[in-house]
Amino acid sequence: MKKVLVIATFNPHKLLEIRAILPAQLALKALSDFPGSVPAEEDGATLEENAAKKALAAARFTGLWALADDTGLEVDALGGGPGIRSARYAGESSSSADNTAKLLLALEGLPSEKRLARFACVMALASPSGDLLTCRGVLEGRITGGGRGAEGFGYDPVFEVAGGCRTLAEFSEREKNSVSHRAQALKGLLPELLRLFPAARPAS
Ligand code: IMP
Repeated sequence: MKKVLVIATFNPHKLLEIRAILPAQLALKALSDFPGSVPAEEDGATLEENAAKKALAAARFTGLWALADDTGLEVDALGGGPGIRSARYAGESSSSADNTAKLLLALEGLPSEKRLARFACVMALASPSGDLLTCRGVLEGRITGGGRGAEGFGYDPVFEVAGGCRTLAEFSEREKNSVSHRAQALKGLLPELLRLFPAARPAS
């Protein structure tokens, strides 16, 4: 049977991005493909703890190697917040629209140079027996005064990527996946993934 890597996310946007970034030859399954699977509680103090918790729980549940990410938006003017609380910034069951609206309000009136921010993403790779490897990727930028663009998800419409004037939601899928925090974190794990899944190595 082909060796399969489980992507431990219930977020369809993340799943699509991770699938597009990883080598096409890597056999992947989503955690939601396994009946009875449930999201792990994100109660860690750091992105590393949350990503590790999600990957380890998925690996134990499925008996397969699993990959999970935890992402936070760090805004300098908010002392690095919302950070680990990015998903619940506007409340426990807040939507992305609620979160971005709260963020824009919190930064209202601040000039562009005081709106610096970054996405930080930690990817964790775990085995059913508890082996664990994590890698962090960061994308620098600034928070806009209003949302722009229709691509991506979450905070993408209000995050202008450093060195340009487009938000991540104005990047094509391919462009986002070539520079994103998620892509950079996955890049760091790639050598280990290719060692574990030799069938995914590009033909030389
Ligand atoms: P989590 O990693 O699923 O906990 O995501 C934390 C928060 O950041 C959620 O509100 C997501 O919608 C948002 N988020 C995660 N990744 C991205 C991204 O690549 N772009 C924009 N927002 C993101």
